[in-house]
Amino acid sequence: MTQYIGRFAPSPSGPLHFGSMVAALGSYFQAKSQHGQWLVRIEDLDPPREMAGAASLILKTLESYGLHWDQDVIYQSQRHPIYQQQIDDWLDSGLGYYCQCSRKQIKQDGGFYLGHCRDKNLPATDCSVRLVIDTPVTQFVDQKHGIIDIPTDLAQEDFIIKRRDGLFAYNLAVVLDDIAQGITEVVRGADLIEPTGRQINLYRYLNHPEVKYLHLPLAINAHGDKLSKQNHAPAVDLANPKPVIILAMQFLGFSLPDDFQSANIEQMLAWGCQHWALSQLPSTLSAPCPF
Ligand code: GLU
Ligand code: ZN
Repeated sequence: MTQYIGRFAPSPSGPLHFGSMVAALGSYFQAKSQHGQWLVRIEDLDPPREMAGAASLILKTLESYGLHWDQDVIYQSQRHPIYQQQIDDWLDSGLGYYCQCSRKQIKQDGGFYLGHCRDKNLPATDCSVRLVIDTPVTQFVDQKHGIIDIPTDLAQEDFIIKRRDGLFAYNLAVVLDDIAQGITEVVRGADLIEPTGRQINLYRYLNHPEVKYLHLPLAINAHGDKLSKQNHAPAVDLANPKPVIILAMQFLGFSLPDDFQSANIEQMLAWGCQHWALSQLPSTLSAPCPF
């Protein structure tokens, strides 16, 4: 049996909010309850969307919440040569190709890219790189939800692995990094269910066994939107972790003992690891943020 290795992979677009704490705690409990490792990776792939200082603030927040990670933190911004090498390999083998379709054109075609540039042999200039998808992944097994279907239109699209603006695509980086870090199970918010099929395609092309997946309920605001920097989700309090830990644990389905407030954060997390069970995790894909 290989050891469990899980991870939390925040994008440093802003400080951690309640939804990100749910993902951090859920992935932590799932790893530590199995005596596994819990790694942290900073997904700083998209500088225009990043906030200066957010990465170090996120790490400080995790520490003040008692969420100590194993191994060194990995930064995606330092792994560009690895991503580019893989893209070059796929371009050479014909699995990857350049595409110059604009977002507008794709919208006119009905919202999904229909393989327009597949056989055009375009040069690199002002192009994105797409991957040929001949065998779409239309479902996968989630550890809580069982079989999850992915819409066919989405699954069969030749998706982007490098953007036209030169940025590496999230799906490519996440899979190469999860492989490099030896991740055995991905635990994250249910907003990332849709790209999972694409990520499984990448595992297959890379000839690497797929990881397991567990998607946690997504915390949504009063308008039904995912909490995010864009909709001003408040940052969790760095100085006062206990109330957020309690609310996040309740959100994850724990029924906490009456005197739980009087425990310190180490005791709270240890109790959580002991009592963590997928059977108590809510089976909804989203739930209102409790404040
Ligand atoms: N960086 C992604 C996010 O913050 C999470 C990636 C993942 O867990 O696969 O939404
Ligand atoms: Zn195209």
